[in-house]
Amino acid sequence: MAKSIVSIVKGKDPEGMVEQALDHLGGVKSLIKAGSTVVVKPNAGHEGAPDSSVNTSPEVVSATIRVLKKANPGKIILAEASAIGCDTMECLESSGIKAAAEEAGVDEIRDIKSDEDLVKKQINNPTSDIKNLDLPRFLLEADHLVNLPIFKSHVSMVFTCALKNLKGVVQDLHHYVMHCTDLAAAMMDLGDLVQPDFTVVDMIRPMEGFGPHSGTPTEMGCVVAGKDMVAIDATACRMVGLPIEKVDYFDAAREKGLGTFDEDQIEILGNSIEEVAKKLYLPYLEGFDAWPEYNFHVQRACSTCQGLLAFTMSKLKSLAQYDKNKGIHIVLGRHNKIPEGIEFGKDLVLMGDCSLALKKKIEREGGSCLHVGGCPPGEPAPAWTIVDRKQFGEGITDPMEVRNRQVEEEKIFKEWLREQMRD
Ligand code: SF4
Repeated sequence: MAKSIVSIVKGKDPEGMVEQALDHLGGVKSLIKAGSTVVVKPNAGHEGAPDSSVNTSPEVVSATIRVLKKANPGKIILAEASAIGCDTMECLESSGIKAAAEEAGVDEIRDIKSDEDLVKKQINNPTSDIKNLDLPRFLLEADHLVNLPIFKSHVSMVFTCALKNLKGVVQDLHHYVMHCTDLAAAMMDLGDLVQPDFTVVDMIRPMEGFGPHSGTPTEMGCVVAGKDMVAIDATACRMVGLPIEKVDYFDAAREKGLGTFDEDQIEILGNSIEEVAKKLYLPYLEGFDAWPEYNFHVQRACSTCQGLLAFTMSKLKSLAQYDKNKGIHIVLGRHNKIPEGIEFGKDLVLMGDCSLALKKKIEREGGSCLHVGGCPPGEPAPAWTIVDRKQFGEGITDPMEVRNRQVEEEKIFKEWLREQMRD
């Protein structure tokens, strides 16, 4: 079987780096047909300053467009659907991506969220609950799709890179549904349906810490490129010291039969992993001993939910809620029986859809608990359930209430993080 090629280029000139990375894949002229329509999909999921690493950096966006233009495509379209509750155009503007793309000569910028010409596509052999997805016709009919993510730590997936960036080709409803099913499996279903011609990863300043929007940019000076998204993601993890065996993403990829992450099946061209490796601070898999004041009951829980719980504990600290809620019991994962030592009531929080059966068991015994739905739950849900001691969403009538609270808490969290670093 032919190996998956992943190229790594470390340097200081983004345009030269992107060109060199694509040379290792055969060169831009062999990848892009003259006269063709090319869709470029950056990560512009949230509002964030150009140097914040919240989104793909504008220098990598403009470098990639300039390199693509050397193949004389007929049209280059930059397209994105930002995260739920975010305005795509505001994200593209605040990140500097819109200005960079225009300056590099992009022909069109499209907000996938507002696209009305959608085509329903069936998922091949779904491994998640999603059976079909509505995708923009312009994207399906384009000759080439170029995936342009940035590597970041990520609360729901431990990290985000090549494959997860594709979530920005669907609109909010599908975004939401993907979070309500097994997110890792849903990512694989999407990655199987929408396969970019190639991916260029911005690892010039990847994000460590509490990503995807409260993390810290760290200098690495690399771009990584390839056609196999799973091989790229595995390589990026190896570059930053993230053990892939601890991340459910790769089990989900194996189950779907998507790509390869086996080191022996990946050929690295350009710089070696050893030459560029830099251990990033990725706190989502650190374990539960760090919060001895809480009672955790964890059994067969995915890394996605473990990461979310780690984030939740830090968030409670930032909101001065950690001490106020200590002593509560948090149940995570798949439990066949009611864990020993728990007490029913509002000090018992069950996290995730896989604990629904346990919730029913508790109710059959005449008990009660709080349950946070989702697989994994949405980012603010566990913290808000603990702080408010009521079901997430109860009493909320205006979705902007959720957004405004999240934005306010994010500011507090970032300030808290800055203080931790100063100490
Ligand atoms: S809810 Fe359960 S199955 Fe879903 S990600 Fe969390 S631990 Fe895994």
